[in-house]
Amino acid sequence: RRQAMMVHAHSHARTVDGREIEVAVNIAGVSDAQEGVRMGADGVGLTRTEFLFSERQSAPSIQEQVTSYQAIIDTLAHKPVIIRTLDVGGDKEVPYLQLPQEENPVLGLRGVRSALVRPELLDVQLSALLQVKPLSQLRILLPMITQVAEIKHIRARVDELATQLGISERPQLGIMIEVPAAAIMAESLAKYADFFSIGSNDLTQYTMAMDRCNPHLAAQLDALNPALLRLIDMTVKGAQAHQKWVGVCGAVASELEAVPILVGLGVNELSVSVPLVPEVKDLVRTLSFADCQRLAQDALRLESAEAVRGLMKQSFGKTS
Ligand code: PEP
Ligand code: MG
Repeated sequence: RRQAMMVHAHSHARTVDGREIEVAVNIAGVSDAQEGVRMGADGVGLTRTEFLFSERQSAPSIQEQVTSYQAIIDTLAHKPVIIRTLDVGGDKEVPYLQLPQEENPVLGLRGVRSALVRPELLDVQLSALLQVKPLSQLRILLPMITQVAEIKHIRARVDELATQLGISERPQLGIMIEVPAAAIMAESLAKYADFFSIGSNDLTQYTMAMDRCNPHLAAQLDALNPALLRLIDMTVKGAQAHQKWVGVCGAVASELEAVPILVGLGVNELSVSVPLVPEVKDLVRTLSFADCQRLAQDALRLESAEAVRGLMKQSFGKTS
């Protein structure tokens, strides 16, 4: 089985009935990118750019950022690369940025909201991203988008910065769906975003109102909770209404037990941790999309995460 897996590693994964699922990799630096390519990833589905900002005394210069982003683009050769803008705040602290002290940081100036107090950080990062070549290979991803106005504002800002730099081409601009309001408003957001990437880690935290870092709640934080599945379903339908594609880059995409449901809900891309790339591709190739769709519809009607996992065990006893 291992050998068959390696033979297929570098071709795209299709279900037995022909539905193509892009299997991409989550990275935090160029060495992950190299490893992801070696494992046969179809692209990079999430670059957590916090890696460039952490464990240092000051923010990386624009030139340093351009060099890092270009190295990742080059490593992936012609495959697509999603780079997420800085997602500080909440559980991801960068002390030298001196963001305001907050009583509830997880509900505060996280992700794109940090631009409300430090707009130059996002401007510098977007300007660096606009300078990679070829821009057609780059997809910019915005974390913590909550409202339509935010994507409209940042898209306009990308246009202004590109014009200032004399760049006529525009990279795809997508948004994380990791706040319940964004999932609920997916149909509106899909008019302004080129793609969605579902951040199941934060979407679970905010939907359940349970801190993703609290060990007492960890057992209940399950992205297969039907509440989450319904939000994912809403997100996919919203995207489809405007012919946009949807990925999942949270940890649930790397769970073999969850893959059939995500595929069945109509997700187009799964972005997984480096070691899971071949296994997720291999699993997709054994699935029937039609069966996954029926399974997902059944899961949406269940009442608990346990019931969903039970259904998965019953249907895929051998793989889980
Ligand atoms: C998520 O929230 O699911 C996600 C992928 O982003 P992060 O884990 O970096 O917050
Ligand atoms: Mg997140």
